[in-house]
Amino acid sequence: MANVYFDHNATTALDKRVLESMLPWMSAQSGNPTSRHVYGRSARDAVEHARAQVAEACGAYSSQVVFTANGTEANNFAIKGMAGHRPSVLSQLDLNQTATQILTSAIEHPCVTRPALSMQQLGYISRQIAVDANGKVDLEKLQQHQLTSPTGLVSVMLANNETGVIQEVATIAEMARAVGAFMHTDAVQGLGKLPLSFSDLNVQAMTVSSHKIHGPQGAAALILDKRVDIQPLLHGGGQEKGLRSGTENVAAIVGFGVACELAVANQTKYATHTQALRDQFELGLTKLAEKLGVTIFGSKVARLPNTSFFAIDGIEGETLVMALDRKGYAVASGSACSSDSTEPSHVLLAMGVDKDMARGAVRVSFGISNTTAEVSDFLATLNNEVLRLKQLTAIAA
Ligand code: PLP
Repeated sequence: MANVYFDHNATTALDKRVLESMLPWMSAQSGNPTSRHVYGRSARDAVEHARAQVAEACGAYSSQVVFTANGTEANNFAIKGMAGHRPSVLSQLDLNQTATQILTSAIEHPCVTRPALSMQQLGYISRQIAVDANGKVDLEKLQQHQLTSPTGLVSVMLANNETGVIQEVATIAEMARAVGAFMHTDAVQGLGKLPLSFSDLNVQAMTVSSHKIHGPQGAAALILDKRVDIQPLLHGGGQEKGLRSGTENVAAIVGFGVACELAVANQTKYATHTQALRDQFELGLTKLAEKLGVTIFGSKVARLPNTSFFAIDGIEGETLVMALDRKGYAVASGSACSSDSTEPSHVLLAMGVDKDMARGAVRVSFGISNTTAEVSDFLATLNNEVLRLKQLTAIAA
């Protein structure tokens, strides 16, 4: 049986070089970075070295990197911490006049959407920005209808975890700036897959996460423009310049730094390799389509090189994922991060895909270690499994 991992947008295997960099911080006497003695000082140096590596990979300064435990925390921090910002148009008016709105795109990960919704209890208005049929933010609707109300914060992801579709973040940041709003982008799926520059995107905050780039789970960062007056989520000993209290996870942060360095060094190779696999896969899929009826989502616009999100007529996504798993292929249905839910993908619903087709969606996300032989074998297995499932459905009907 095959043993093939095609779910790299969910998480990635720890790189051996990353593991080696982490081991001294897990096995030998490791100090607390806030301690003044030699153990503490060397842990502090290790964290600061990693901070510089993360900053370099993100096109940012070290002073802009705030370490968090995961991307979910960094996104919560950005949304809840920056929501208090009042757009400059409002500050010139009566401060109590209007509630400020938080705009998030309709295709964000729940760790952006839910904190935004939770802010409604504190009097903020949370609204979603529509996307078009390709999964791209509708800039015209945003400009004409939504940015007309006083807006404190706009959050639009750089690349979607399901479709891989890439957004025009720098343009949206410009539009947000024009109305005095801050802009956050969730770049968790962008790091390592695309060239990434915090300063070029011109946003005030950007989220990145270690375990998506062959780093360890347990480390992530919010890259933050230090001129932003942001409220911490965690209060305590004042680590991370008071923005994120709690003893740093030194080993995970060190590993994150090394993973960043490797991701940047390999980014072009990664993009070329995974895009070739994706092209091979989608060509094969289109050939199947003549017999089966296949839709590939977001394929008409710029996407992450490694991601393919598709549905086959009459086949349930969950059922196909389980059938492929039994044959040794790890793929995802809808968003793997919320796969305990059987609801159709909110991303596809936002793109106007009908519920039945959305329920059929399956995501394949390639990684640097996958091969063309794996893709060929996978296409053959997919063909057989789909035909088998179609026969079963026909018998049941
Ligand atoms: N944002 C996006 C786009 C993601 O895909 C994920 C996880 O898959 C997250 C945020 C959450 O990141 P983490 O798993 O580090 O909490």
